[in-house]
Amino acid sequence: MLLIKKQELIDSVPKRWYKEYVSRQGLLACDKQGVLDKLHALEKPLNEQEVNKIIGNSSWTYLKCDVCEKETDAILCIKPLDYCPYENRGVRICNDCMVKGLNKF
Ligand SMILES: [Zn+2]
Repeated sequence: MLLIKKQELIDSVPKRWYKEYVSRQGLLACDKQGVLDKLHALEKPLNEQEVNKIIGNSSWTYLKCDVCEKETDAILCIKPLDYCPYENRGVRICNDCMVKGLNKF
């Protein structure tokens, strides 16, 4: 289990972008390299709106609960062992849904 906060997710975008596009596709992905260069030029901590503008959508900074499907600032990601929590894997639960779940025990 890992707690993911919105700012951590936003700050991880350049690293995730590199892993997804640049490292795997190398020189074939020139436009992806250009996006990465722009992301690296941003001041830290990264600003959500600036990142979304560079990428062209909010899919890389959007943090949503898998239970209530609301956007949230923090989620608990539940998944066994070797996984990358910032990738879209595992079950993501917000604080409200976690409390409701705990009350069921
Ligand atoms: Zn929820």
